[in-house]
Amino acid sequence: MAHPARLRPDLALLRAGLPATPRTRFAPAPTGALHLGHIANAIYVWGLARAAGARVLLRIEDHDRQRCQPAYEHALLEDLEWLGLPADEFPVSVYREGPCAGRQSDRDAQYRAAAAKLAGDGLLFACDCSRRDLEATMRSDAASDDRELHYAGRCRERGLPLEEGVGWRMRMAPGEETFEDALCGRQRQTPAQQCGDLLIRDRLGNWSYQFAVAVDDFLQDITLVIRGLDLLASTGRQLRIARLLGRAAPPVFLHHGLLMQSPTQKLSKADGATGVRELRAAGWTAPRVLGEAAHRLGLQAAPSPLAADAVEQLFR
Ligand code: GLU
Repeated sequence: MAHPARLRPDLALLRAGLPATPRTRFAPAPTGALHLGHIANAIYVWGLARAAGARVLLRIEDHDRQRCQPAYEHALLEDLEWLGLPADEFPVSVYREGPCAGRQSDRDAQYRAAAAKLAGDGLLFACDCSRRDLEATMRSDAASDDRELHYAGRCRERGLPLEEGVGWRMRMAPGEETFEDALCGRQRQTPAQQCGDLLIRDRLGNWSYQFAVAVDDFLQDITLVIRGLDLLASTGRQLRIARLLGRAAPPVFLHHGLLMQSPTQKLSKADGATGVRELRAAGWTAPRVLGEAAHRLGLQAAPSPLAADAVEQLFR
């Protein structure tokens, strides 16, 4: 996977493109335990938020109800607390109280309202393709690095009713989405060619990542999105969804490098060796975990301990 052109953004330029009180978010999915890859993202999120005067919102991205588990949510909240990185909005304590406006599974009403707006504009259609239908008709987008699957439009003109038990897709009109990434520079994406008509809700009633995140970033007034390079190709379609929902000013995007398991494989939840839980059990302190992640990112020369309140120094 490509590395961003830069390791650190130009802070003055970043600030100039943001409102007076920018808002960013840390958005883990409770589909597994936190590992050093999440910590790398947290270092960018908290470090840049503090250096640029932004507020950090904690969002639990549990839109996929089959893959997410409350036990993973409890563990990740506890790990975050241990790391010493407190969110300014929807902090750990608020999630522990019960339903929370930051947790995607508690936001069904917001997603329904957003879907109703798209449907009212004639942009949604129902799709009853099975996984096998999709695999048979999808083609890989050879132009894209990650060779993602493209929806071939089988149900686009079938006029199936938009109801429960079928997928809901958004018509993706042709056209480019362009944005200036704070680390990767100018980007041009063509969602109609990359993914085609986008799934926003699956047959089981799960809102898709792309839709939920675009709705949340809009409604929660997120003006700075900081995430790994693996999500760079998603940004154009999220910009498109947000604009169709009525978002006037898009957020600023920053996609940072990923910690790799091997030259071609990013770290994943399956790599126990980098799990925060495992490192804690082996006696690592929080500053040692932060220092290790910062070092692997190339943000500090040695894996020396890094206090949570010093992460912003990496970006100054
Ligand atoms: N929930 C996503 C993840 O854990 C992050 C999504 C985003 O930052 O847009 O990879």
